[in-house]
Amino acid sequence: MSSDLVKRFNELQGLDESKVPARYLAEQTCALKNRCALCKSRGFIFEVSGALTTVNLCSCVKSCTKCLGHASSTDASGISQPCKSPPLHVTLSHFNAAQIPAKYAQASLGTFTNFSGNGKDVVMFVRNWISHFKPRGIKGFILGGGVGVGKTHLLAGVIKALVLKGYSAAFVDFFQLLAQLREAYASDKSDASLIQPLMYTDLLVIDELGKGRNTEWELTILDQLVMGRYNENKTIIASTNYNLNEDVPLNQNLSLEEDSFSYGSFASQQYMPLARRVGPRIYSRLKEMCHFTQLNGKDMRGGS
Ligand SMILES: [Zn+2]
Ligand SMILES: [Zn+2]
Repeated sequence: MSSDLVKRFNELQGLDESKVPARYLAEQTCALKNRCALCKSRGFIFEVSGALTTVNLCSCVKSCTKCLGHASSTDASGISQPCKSPPLHVTLSHFNAAQIPAKYAQASLGTFTNFSGNGKDVVMFVRNWISHFKPRGIKGFILGGGVGVGKTHLLAGVIKALVLKGYSAAFVDFFQLLAQLREAYASDKSDASLIQPLMYTDLLVIDELGKGRNTEWELTILDQLVMGRYNENKTIIASTNYNLNEDVPLNQNLSLEEDSFSYGSFASQQYMPLARRVGPRIYSRLKEMCHFTQLNGKDMRGGS
């Protein structure tokens, strides 16, 4: 309730303000200051829309009489102030631009449960990394590990933690990005509208690094992403099913399109070195830009 309404209430009742019933005064604070079971007082809720996670204002904020649902209100001097920092509209737009897969709508570092291997240490590493994050000049990381150990879950958790701190992020499933690019070319569009936004976000997250047919064109796209971020001094974090081990000798004569590595059984791909998948140029750049961290544990997806 606005202070005008309280004043009018006072006039009507002939009371001084100290005697205004508490519930009216309580209504003067933003709904975000109250406890909301739905959004845990964050002001927004994660929802699923098609293949992506979307974020919407919680009903508590929408019906807030202090800010009339804008999660910002005007103070006595007439200046509009956000009810929350970072402002809710910034958080919402960053989340909705991040393209988190719907499957990971509820994923966070706190909901990671695969401690059958070194999960505890990796989560600690990731939390520590988040606490030191800045948009430029910080080394990212690549999580290596088998299928279903929870790498993508952790990457989604990192996005959420950083967006809540006010940073922007983009999640890219590399395979899907390639499909979108092919679609763009087919309809005579340039790739700039898809690639450019990935250069400017505070954080770029690449899921399934090395996945694909590894044609020269695909590696050119990866090179653009990696070099683009490198030149901007910006961070990449990624996951890969390929072997991060740097001691695996590089065979530079190996064809990068070799089919046996693209469509062979997944188990054999897992131990294929990433260096060989992406080639020495991209690999050495990634090594410079990222910590290489292995996540071990059981396959939590169930089934094979
Ligand atoms: Zn409010
Ligand atoms: Zn709420």
